[in-house]
Amino acid sequence: MAITVVGSVAYDSIQTPAGRRDRCLGGAATYFSLAASFFTDVRVIAVVGEDFGAEQEAVFAARNIDTRGIEHASGKSFFWEGSYMENLNEAKTHNTELNVFAAFQPKIPQAYSDSEFLFLANIDPVLQRRVREAMPGVKLVAGDTMNYWIKDHRPALLEVLKGLDILLINDTETRMLAANNNIVQAARAVMALGPQSLVVKHGEYGATLFSSADHGNGASRTFRAPALPLEEVVDPTGAGDSFAGGFFGYLASQTVLDAAAYRRAMFYGSTMGSFAVERFGTERLQQLTRAEIDERFNQFRALTHLD
Ligand code: AMP
Repeated sequence: MAITVVGSVAYDSIQTPAGRRDRCLGGAATYFSLAASFFTDVRVIAVVGEDFGAEQEAVFAARNIDTRGIEHASGKSFFWEGSYMENLNEAKTHNTELNVFAAFQPKIPQAYSDSEFLFLANIDPVLQRRVREAMPGVKLVAGDTMNYWIKDHRPALLEVLKGLDILLINDTETRMLAANNNIVQAARAVMALGPQSLVVKHGEYGATLFSSADHGNGASRTFRAPALPLEEVVDPTGAGDSFAGGFFGYLASQTVLDAAAYRRAMFYGSTMGSFAVERFGTERLQQLTRAEIDERFNQFRALTHLD
């Protein structure tokens, strides 16, 4: 099974209590792809500028990620600057430069057209929608967004939500999107906008899956996975996208998508998010092994097992 993902491939400047990194490789599609690549084949659609070279390309190649859909344009790559000095759960954005993304017209390579899974990672909802419409044959579509788009690009975002099976956003974004502070009511309101399933991420407190569809087994439609209590969080950037990569990558690797598969996917999401925050940028995901993932998944089991 293969996932096609569209989203930002970027340079990030990040400040956290553990230190600072300038212009490291980032972007929602980058974190998503690296995390999902441990479970399934991944194909990326994005645009980068002249500042994106062989060193960055090698990060994707090392995980066998298909980059034929990454267009190289003249100009500078997407740039984001943020910090987490007061709250590790929420980035404070200092600067967002769309650069080459401002005029991006996504083209889907012929080789991507048999992808059964589509992930619309964080980027302008207009671009997310174009890619969704260009891939009508996909079996399952998930997506992400952020406050930036919810606040100022709402009509375009509402169009995207209509075409989603699963939406993954954090709790603040859920409340903002629904204009309701109660998370259960807000989740119901967001699902009424399109997605049958909603994954609400709570940063260091884990994530909750809400479903309006019955995935079988008569299982409860709400499920909570914890985050791993870590001694040190070096850089929260990319935790949400890595969660999404683990979650959706795992689903794409399964033949039966029932409630139990969604629940395991929540734990694989938490597992990948926990690795992402251990080092700056994509450093930890680049060095990860499948054996480490399995070991941590078992740690999550032990953390929540009753008997
Ligand atoms: P997260 O998983 O939420 O921490 O996402 C972090 C990534 O989102 C960073 O690597 C940024 O490059 C990227 N990002 C930040 N702002 C935006 C935006 N407005 N659109 C798309 N990507 C963004």
